[in-house]
Amino acid sequence: MNPLSTQERPAIRRTLQSRKFDLLVVGGGITGAGIALDAASRGFRVALVEKHDFASGTSSKSTKLVHGGLRYLKQLEIALVREVGRERAIVHELAPHLVKSEKMLLPLVKGGTYGSLATSMGLWVYDILAGVEGKDKRSMLDREETLAHEPLLRQDILQGGGYYAEYRTDDARLTIENIKTAVKHGACILNYACVEDFLYNEEKKVSGVVCRDTLDDTPFNIEASYVVSAAGPWVDQLRKTNGSISGKHLFHSKGVHIVVPHERFPVRQSVYFDNDDGRMIFAIPRQRVTYIGTTDTPYQGDLDHIPIHREDVEYLLAAANQMFPKVGLTFDDVESSWAGLRPLIYEEGKSASEMSRKDEIFESDTGLISIAGGKLTGYRKMAERVVDLLVRKQRSQNGKDLKDNHTDRIALSGGPFENARAVTAYEEEIAGKLAGYGLPSLTAKYLVHNYGRQTDTILEMLSEFNDEPAQALLRAECRFAVHHELAATLTDFFNRRTGRLYFNLPSIQPAIEPIAEDMGKYLDWSSERKKEEKDSLQQAIREVTEFEPAQQGTGVTS
Ligand code: FAD
Repeated sequence: MNPLSTQERPAIRRTLQSRKFDLLVVGGGITGAGIALDAASRGFRVALVEKHDFASGTSSKSTKLVHGGLRYLKQLEIALVREVGRERAIVHELAPHLVKSEKMLLPLVKGGTYGSLATSMGLWVYDILAGVEGKDKRSMLDREETLAHEPLLRQDILQGGGYYAEYRTDDARLTIENIKTAVKHGACILNYACVEDFLYNEEKKVSGVVCRDTLDDTPFNIEASYVVSAAGPWVDQLRKTNGSISGKHLFHSKGVHIVVPHERFPVRQSVYFDNDDGRMIFAIPRQRVTYIGTTDTPYQGDLDHIPIHREDVEYLLAAANQMFPKVGLTFDDVESSWAGLRPLIYEEGKSASEMSRKDEIFESDTGLISIAGGKLTGYRKMAERVVDLLVRKQRSQNGKDLKDNHTDRIALSGGPFENARAVTAYEEEIAGKLAGYGLPSLTAKYLVHNYGRQTDTILEMLSEFNDEPAQALLRAECRFAVHHELAATLTDFFNRRTGRLYFNLPSIQPAIEPIAEDMGKYLDWSSERKKEEKDSLQQAIREVTEFEPAQQGTGVTS
């Protein structure tokens, strides 16, 4: 059985039902994926279920930076900055094709959040905490140097700039590669499998879950010695189902990003700039677009459908226009967008922006372990803390000893690459092969960033299709997604597997028919199912392009 092929869903479900696992993880975002990989690589028998698609929660809706969080330094969260700062370099080494170093420009402006001295000191401390060395260390720029880096910046208030090292990634792909690497280490994993309830033993301790395959509505049970909920914004919902919600609880903060064509906002590099309300905003160029974010507002609505209001979009457009006045962005420039929820641990008297991004583990009397909070960047350490806890439990309950954490040495699928230079060399090799099909070298960049060395498999598949090269390539990607990445719906493919919904939206409409035909053939879709799939993709497109009128109480800053 190929455990990453969507065609094998019935067999994967049978395995989930028939085995007793050491650990069942609920939630296929970055936190759950990291825990599954850590535990499987230490010798646990691991299962993971995700109610929708992998990374369909917050883990495809972040700013997509693997970063130390400069602003947490201002809040004196030294331990957090040190941990995530150091994690950046480790995660980069695990997948240099997917987590790429990226210089960030922080313009210093009159009346801004950071003065020149404070920025210089702050970035210096940031580098020390994160162990940044050599040419990657921060440098301070004068006004002219800053403008040379980014000529679009507003000039009347500009005083200089800080220039420092960060990393950028694709959060959904990072999650999926963790899932795939966990499967390679023996974990049994299924998406579209929703936990509806818990199973309990005679001592009223959690001993598994009642699950439902949401694609064919089949209920099934999974038994496990430990159940960990890594359900992100849904953690409290599951604690409620478990009857164990008490003490600390989650606070949801909504963050919106908008996407505009790069030619309309042609920043040369990533910029972290002041807004005039005292908040800081990112503008990040990525292939053919630039994205801008984020808002940070309290959210109490439906966790499964997070609306983007016109007010959110106006706020981000105004922020970009006040710092980059020559650009003059309007609503018509917005090509796509996304909204995600930060699952923060509630702190009395603090606003959404002020609440800590630290993670926390809750253990209920019923034995359910939940982890919430944290950041994409710190996922490996969060996983280590949870699995260390389970190892201690195993040891005290049955004397069984397991390996220490070693995920800092497990290259993610798509690798291995020795370093960033090896990625560039591979990119050149792929560009050479694509030239043979008349495809541009930019496509090589996209493929290698998305799939790493798995690009070879996609190119082998390419020869099976007789269409013109760009369409043949897309069909090969689709084949790969279904047979190697558990993609089960059209939106899985166009969103979490290829990033097109956010970063190349105009390319989707002409591709829907051929891709729906192919997926339909691979997965034996009826004509009704094919129609439902197309409708739901069109709905996903509407959600990122059509904005709801402002609602009372939807403040943009908190
Ligand atoms: P999620 O990704 O939400 O995963 C939880 C999963 O559990 C979901 O997929 C959900 O479907 C599943 N689930 C829920 N209930 C059930 C159930 N009953 N059965 C089965 N499955 C279930 N961090 C950074 O490091 N860098 C950044 O640049 C950054 N930017 C951010 C910007 C924004 C706007 C936001 C909102 C967050 C940002 N973060 C960033 C934080 C980071 O994105 C989150 O910390 C991280 O993605 C949370 O991952 P998670 O796996 O805990 O949650």
